[in-house]
Amino acid sequence: MKIILFVLTAVLFIFAGAWASDNFQYMSFDDMRRAVAGVFFTDSITEGELKEAYAKAARGEGKVKILIVPGHDDDSWGTEYNGIREADLTMRVGEALAAQFAKNSAYEATLLRGRDGYLSAFETYFAEHREVVRAEVVAKKKIMKDLLAAGSVERVEGVGHNKAALDVALRLYAINKWANENAFHLVLHLHFNDFGGRTARNMNQYGGFALYVPDGQYSNARASYAVAESLFSELSSLFTKSNLPKEDAGIVPDQSLIAIGAYNTLDAVSVLIEYAYIYEAPLRTPSGRKEAIQRFADATYRGVERFFR
Ligand SMILES: [Zn+2]
Repeated sequence: MKIILFVLTAVLFIFAGAWASDNFQYMSFDDMRRAVAGVFFTDSITEGELKEAYAKAARGEGKVKILIVPGHDDDSWGTEYNGIREADLTMRVGEALAAQFAKNSAYEATLLRGRDGYLSAFETYFAEHREVVRAEVVAKKKIMKDLLAAGSVERVEGVGHNKAALDVALRLYAINKWANENAFHLVLHLHFNDFGGRTARNMNQYGGFALYVPDGQYSNARASYAVAESLFSELSSLFTKSNLPKEDAGIVPDQSLIAIGAYNTLDAVSVLIEYAYIYEAPLRTPSGRKEAIQRFADATYRGVERFFR
């Protein structure tokens, strides 16, 4: 009962927000369904829906829409080792991955950031929607706070992450909103890992890949976990999983990472892939990097294929 009341409150809250926004005119049943989809306790996307979309796409009806998000950018490039920046590595994996998806006409893959920067359609969207995104995040945070206070949602402490700076956070929330509005099925965030307090001496204590998925209480959690399992099968056949405590689970649910839908802000399936720690041996030489990047992209593509087939 409590849950129903809160969902109703949440829905009313969203409607109130919609009334107040400039572009709100009419709300159709579909709009309503979409508004509710972002609410806790209902699945925003299911494994069945995804597989059906793939089956249809294979028959030439529609596409499975995949958004590839190479982590970080030129303004904020994530971690760095020996002059190699995370943002450049993720961009290259993203390009290689997009090239893989292009080989199968069932997929329509969008690369959010390439060597020329962000996709201009997204840049325009972000510039125009910054304030709307900000307001929506405030509303979602309020809903989550109420749910936490009522005990309907439980706070879970995950692996410690650096808190995103405000502008970086807004951009990540904008990606979620853009992905929702453009009905992407799957969002893949590509990253390379690091740990706090790294020195030349202690550097080799952590290594390996990890997959972050939405906390089990979020609407996109179940389907995301299923996709992550397929990705894990493929990645673990080539690479070892992380040995960092908590991350050593391989598939790691997280409540606070915006990329995978913190505060329930993302409808699509989302997996954040940390391919390796940035200082790991294969990434240290140009030829090793090139080969590793291709292997990461291949394994990711095969993981997605494994899920859909
Ligand atoms: Zn990163």
